[in-house]
Amino acid sequence: MPHMRARRDNQEARWTKARQRLVEALADEGELSEAALAALTAVPRHRFVPPSHRADSYANRPLPIGRGQTISQPFMVGWLVDAVRAGPGCRVLEIGTGCGYQAAVLAATGAQVWSIEIRRPLAEAARARLDALGLGAVTTRVGDGAKGWPEAAPFDGIVLTAAPSSPPTGLLDQVAIGGCLVAPVGPQGDAQVLIRQTRVGDDEWTVEALGGCRFVPLVDERFRAV
Ligand code: SAH
Repeated sequence: MPHMRARRDNQEARWTKARQRLVEALADEGELSEAALAALTAVPRHRFVPPSHRADSYANRPLPIGRGQTISQPFMVGWLVDAVRAGPGCRVLEIGTGCGYQAAVLAATGAQVWSIEIRRPLAEAARARLDALGLGAVTTRVGDGAKGWPEAAPFDGIVLTAAPSSPPTGLLDQVAIGGCLVAPVGPQGDAQVLIRQTRVGDDEWTVEALGGCRFVPLVDERFRAV
């Protein structure tokens, strides 16, 4: 029905405008690179938000996606893109796919993306969304991200979107020389610090604290009830 299509096109145009306004506001803050802002502009966040919260898709805040998890705040998604130095041709592993939004934004920088999610229903829904957006090139799997993805390693960047209580060491082997691992580290529900560990040599690392952040906890598979 043509009038229904017209209404849908109109709604899409409104989403696009709202997204542009959000990205302009983020650009004004001056914290994110042009590449991160372009990637945020390219990905329709409303397609990753559940219908109950869709109206807030372009507010700069996290939103619930079910199962006690969240879609990250757009600023944070851009910040992680920059922190992990994602760009054309980079190989990036994300731990904590959630709804798939961060993975899509990483892919929009031209990076090749792998993403692991421990909660199967979230992983399956994310897969369907990524496919619907033509992002079949983002490779996903269900599993414990703490083990990384050894078959696809080494990565230029590994980024955790769930916080462990101490810096993860098990993943360091999967970082290429010159690459980095970015993780929010700290106690659940409290102030965490975004840490970047860059592999400058075979056995040589630099560590930087990039700033404060707040993420859901990384689930330790060994103690998981559900
Ligand atoms: N990246 C998401 C944010 C996801 S929230 C975005 O784009 O908005 C963090 C996600 O990490 C949750 O979906 C949670 O289920 C997942 N998670 C927690 N512990 C994990 C683990 N050990 N391995 C893989 N995923 C994990």
